[in-house]
Amino acid sequence: MKLVFLGTSAAQPTESRAMTCICVVLEKEILMFDAGEGAQLSFLKSKLGWNKKMKIFVTHLHGDHCVGILGLLQTMSLQNRTESIDIYGPKGIDDFLAANLKVLNFGLSFPVRIMTIKEGLVLDDTTYTIHACEADHSIPAFSYVLQEKEKPGKFYPEKAKELGIPEGKLWHELQSGKEVKVGNKTFKPSDIMGEKRQGKKIGISGDTRPTKKLEEFFKGCDYLIFDSTYSDELQEKAKEHYHSTAREAAMLAKNAGVSNLILTHFSARYDDVEAMVREAETVHNSIVAAEDLLEIEIK
Ligand SMILES: [Zn+2]
Ligand SMILES: [Zn+2]
Repeated sequence: MKLVFLGTSAAQPTESRAMTCICVVLEKEILMFDAGEGAQLSFLKSKLGWNKKMKIFVTHLHGDHCVGILGLLQTMSLQNRTESIDIYGPKGIDDFLAANLKVLNFGLSFPVRIMTIKEGLVLDDTTYTIHACEADHSIPAFSYVLQEKEKPGKFYPEKAKELGIPEGKLWHELQSGKEVKVGNKTFKPSDIMGEKRQGKKIGISGDTRPTKKLEEFFKGCDYLIFDSTYSDELQEKAKEHYHSTAREAAMLAKNAGVSNLILTHFSARYDDVEAMVREAETVHNSIVAAEDLLEIEIK
């Protein structure tokens, strides 16, 4: 799994930062969280591939988080995408997309399904779940958590051979958690496999004030990507505009027992976000400032 940041600026782009767009790249699928204007250009630069299986999750209907879906869909069509895309977002995302697709007379080369979401379980996939939690922003907004499901332990073929279990169907059955019989002996998956591995928990805040509710929602995240629009001196502005400062993001991460915090959605007034990283580091010991096209490998 890896995180790829396609846009890390708030509200308007800068010369070095495009507007919010974050991808979680899984083995067989890309999960995109928000798509600000110009998302297709960053997507092109990232070389993630135009025809990969993909879902888009929108946190809220501010332009810098959703307008980019239109250009992205259009470019994908011109690239002859055939794979369908599912788009999840708050009420209104359906009207926004339907109206634009109609007015702009979009001819898409692939099916698009739009789902409006509520707080709670959004999606239960075979390898992960997505949950949404109400955030605290100037309009209805959601934060998301991606929880990978428990993964099977490592398979040791030499052990299986040693125990005399013939390769093929029986190996497959053991790997899928079943017991098998060879002659009069019974073997369990644990005889040839390591411990089950816990799945990763990734949080994406979208635009929000820090809240107790979100602290609970993001409890124990391995990685949390959080609104860090302002630095300390604009704390009042952060409250007024329903955003967070880097320090506030770090405080929430610390209280939630988050292992790694990634700051993003920086106000365009900051050319350099080093000061914000330092403010956050006074509270939490694993801080990274996102930048466009930053990739973080998660093992
Ligand atoms: Zn925003
Ligand atoms: Zn917003």
